[in-house]
Amino acid sequence: MSILFRALPSVDKVLDALTESGEFSHIPRSIVREHVNGFLDVCREEIRAGVITEQEQLALGIILPRMKAYIRAQSRPHFRRVLNGTGVVVHTNLGRSLLAESAVEAVTEACAYYSNLEFDLATGERGSRYSHVEELLCKVCGAEAGLVVNNNAAAVLIVLDTLCKDKEVPVSRGQLVEIGGSFRIPEVMEKSGATLREVGATNRTHLRDYEQAITEETGALLRVHTSNYRIVGFHKEVTLEEMVALGKKHDLPVIEDLGSGSFTDFSTLRIGEEPTVQQVVGAGADVVTFSGDKVLGGPQAGIIVGKKKYIDMIKRNPMNRALRIDKMTLAALEATLRLYREPELARIEIPTLSMMFAEQSQLKQRARRLANRIKKACGEQISVKVVDGNSRVGGGSFPERDLPTALVAITPSAVSETMLKKALLDSNPPLVGRIEQQAFCLDPRTLTDKEFTLVIDALQQALQVVSR
Ligand SMILES: *Cc1c(COP(=O)(O)O)cnc(C)c1O
Repeated sequence: MSILFRALPSVDKVLDALTESGEFSHIPRSIVREHVNGFLDVCREEIRAGVITEQEQLALGIILPRMKAYIRAQSRPHFRRVLNGTGVVVHTNLGRSLLAESAVEAVTEACAYYSNLEFDLATGERGSRYSHVEELLCKVCGAEAGLVVNNNAAAVLIVLDTLCKDKEVPVSRGQLVEIGGSFRIPEVMEKSGATLREVGATNRTHLRDYEQAITEETGALLRVHTSNYRIVGFHKEVTLEEMVALGKKHDLPVIEDLGSGSFTDFSTLRIGEEPTVQQVVGAGADVVTFSGDKVLGGPQAGIIVGKKKYIDMIKRNPMNRALRIDKMTLAALEATLRLYREPELARIEIPTLSMMFAEQSQLKQRARRLANRIKKACGEQISVKVVDGNSRVGGGSFPERDLPTALVAITPSAVSETMLKKALLDSNPPLVGRIEQQAFCLDPRTLTDKEFTLVIDALQQALQVVSR
């Protein structure tokens, strides 16, 4: 073993060889040296573990390609682009929504230049950052007023803190949901200082359950969208219309946490009935909250719309300053909302919507095209076919509902599909797919045509690694 340790090339020798290759000339030498040391440590580990057993394995010519790959990997940003081949459109782990082109341009401009973020160009005096989107928001959904905070969790928190602090809020037992692990309605209510009054049963809640729970202490009535799960069978919730009537009778605001709120009518997709924000506002909800980056397809934001009286109270809450959105979000949101003034345009321009509305016939054609290109590029190493499958909307919207799609099913010849899936995470850019019917499957719904070349490149990289 000590012979092997001594056979490791010196740092300077490696650095000289790397300098000669010129590949890392853009990286400061001190940082390259750090990476070289890091890689030599990996080699020492491999000697100890018995992975490297021969001196020849440590020859400069053998080590150098691995060294370069290591430095390339170390020099990449930690937070980077991936290819989403999963078919989950609003993929929470992969960044949820992609912005429309006009929104991306607006963000770039907002970052690179000074702006009228809080400057009123009409008077030359201080303005409000919210003025850029409130009117648009109201126009699109028909609300009297609106406000935007950091995300929907923050929206629910500030609404409850403003309207229900030290008061009771009846919530149906069927709606006490946990979203994405860390957002739980009972816990958010506790943080806001509101007291939860559970009403009804897990599967059935009636109007009389709410009615009986209302006392002098009640601050509001809250409805929560059960986003990521679905109750089927013997099941009942009180409708928004009934709730609004009850709220009116007792002079209590009705708050609706829509979660993945949307302005788009998805009925042609046949994935179940979800009310649009316009419908909820139209039905008389006093305050409605929803995410900007779920099915809406905009930036991360918590959008609050409703009656002016309540929105004004929320605006004045000091918590608002702590939860405010930054200029990049504002730029992206305004551009996204502008597209919604023309629903047809929104469906074409907003990636989340165009992916959701992509038709199976069209997806099948694209899958065939991708499969053919993969076959040509990867040859004998894999077998490829196109099979029918399902995509999901994701983001806690339309739970357990499928969108029919076509999948490119890849079976590697020499290794398991699980090994291929794992190796693809190391490709550049990483490619994420899913295993189905004993094959590694890619769904063209969440990949653009432009990305097909990158997909093939990632596959070739991974196959080269696993065949070693
Ligand atoms: C997703 C969701 C939230 C949290 O929204 P974020 O934008 O992720 O903070 C809150 N309530 C419901 C019902 C949700 O679906």
